[in-house]
Amino acid sequence: MTSTRYLWTPPEPASVAVQGTDARLPVQRLFFVGRNYHAHAVEMGRPVDAKRDRPFYFTKSPTALVASGASVPFPQSTANYQHEMELVLALRSGGCDIAPENAHELVYGYACGLDMTRRDLQMAARDQGKPWDTAKDCEDSAVISPIVPMPGTVLERGRIELRVDGAARQDSDLSDMIWGVRELIADLSRLYHLRAGDLIYTGTPEGVGAVRAGQRIDGSIDGVGSISLQLEEASA
Ligand code: MN
Repeated sequence: MTSTRYLWTPPEPASVAVQGTDARLPVQRLFFVGRNYHAHAVEMGRPVDAKRDRPFYFTKSPTALVASGASVPFPQSTANYQHEMELVLALRSGGCDIAPENAHELVYGYACGLDMTRRDLQMAARDQGKPWDTAKDCEDSAVISPIVPMPGTVLERGRIELRVDGAARQDSDLSDMIWGVRELIADLSRLYHLRAGDLIYTGTPEGVGAVRAGQRIDGSIDGVGSISLQLEEASA
């Protein structure tokens, strides 16, 4: 048997800590839901009509993942780096064209997440009809806390909040999500063959805002835990 030879040592596969075990969840893809809370859609100047609109998505590379508690450098090429506090859903199994009533079967558990965003690049891209990749998929921009195993559970309510240097910025409830866990899994499974290890960041409530180097972000979701991130000066 011949083993694959690489030019250099490949990086370890992306993975996330799981509460209560030293086994890590191997990550497949990172999906992000846009505008999933009415008040946030309004603050972004793009209200949602839930009767007519469907959810929309973007992705980040698994290399953008960073664990809660990390200290990371302020990113390049932005003067408006913003926090978005989100519930993250981790899948234990996959499939396509999943019916909402069966969607809970795919759930492994939940984590707290930060969808860190170069808002100035996002607004420029949006206004010019260009992709969001450089605004969203930058290094250390997908922060995640340890996953809490809750197989088959659909979270429908619970406080979700975020502070910067101790001052409240975001404070809402999961029940304010426009599309809930069942609808998101069902809808996304019409676009992708979902797989075990896919993570879905389910969108942020209102109150997003900028952070500077030297500031600390703390957030929590009832029943899921807490998350933190320390922003350092930009690296050379
Ligand atoms: Mn987001």
